[in-house]
Amino acid sequence: MSQIISVDIGGTQIRAATFHPGKNTPIQIQRNPTHSDTRTVYAGLISLIENVWPKEEKVRAISVAVPGPLEPKTGLVHSTPNIKEWVSFPLGEKLQSHFQVPVHLDNDANLAALGEWRYGAGKGHHDILFLTISTGIGGGVVLDDRLLHGWKGLATELGHITAIPDGPICSCGQAGHLEAIASGPGIVRYVVDHLKAGEKSILSGENFTPKEIANAARNGDRLSLAAFRRAGEVLGRTIADFLHMFNPSIVILGGGVSQSSDLFMKPMIEMMTGSVMDPNYVKDLVVAKAELGDEAGLVGALVQAEVLHPELEPN
Ligand SMILES: [Zn+2]
Repeated sequence: MSQIISVDIGGTQIRAATFHPGKNTPIQIQRNPTHSDTRTVYAGLISLIENVWPKEEKVRAISVAVPGPLEPKTGLVHSTPNIKEWVSFPLGEKLQSHFQVPVHLDNDANLAALGEWRYGAGKGHHDILFLTISTGIGGGVVLDDRLLHGWKGLATELGHITAIPDGPICSCGQAGHLEAIASGPGIVRYVVDHLKAGEKSILSGENFTPKEIANAARNGDRLSLAAFRRAGEVLGRTIADFLHMFNPSIVILGGGVSQSSDLFMKPMIEMMTGSVMDPNYVKDLVVAKAELGDEAGLVGALVQAEVLHPELEPN
């Protein structure tokens, strides 16, 4: 039997795992900090892959989830938010020539969508919209059982849709993107701005996390409740736009902020339902939480290899 090596490159941690195609339980899994004083990120990645390389069985492919814009077809990483040395970095080519097996790369949110489609909340669906809401907002779309990529593989950056023209500045530098409003830092910014404007809250200063705002909201803090309600409304209105574009049968929410969905789900659904051009977009639409959690990138990378190597699929 052969194995697939999945890699998930995060801002603080790189994980590598081995899988048998068709089974989403890893055979083994190892983690390393992304940054180290003694080696480059790339050298750390090579040694991590060598560590999980199976001794008995063959490796059929290496499949890698990378944050930030990249070209899946060529394996070229344009940039990644937390790895400054990877600018126009030919990661796919370098790994392929080092390990001499096929190497596949894709954006981490795209691969998480693919993972949820085959092994998570999207099982049985053919058309899914996936949003991951944490320090940023990422997205992935599967339509007719195929992940959408677009011309250069840059499609479905759903966090960077303009939600409020001239709104707060996004991590990408543009104004008013969904990510600048409904991500964790967007929710924190809302509370900080309103505290500065003199609103009362059990929170003070500006050094608190989205989780602390969620706890304050659950204790009845009005400003914190308003911050999540506003995030939910903006998400709902934006998701209605995505429904018009993609017509999915399920919307899957992942990422740390979605753990607080009790605080924004109701306004989100109300705004989404009230913003569609025809009720059929929301009739029988499922809205669900992601099921793969932390492993979404690794499992998604496995699915990418399974899809690209159908000869590996178990009967
Ligand atoms: Zn943006």
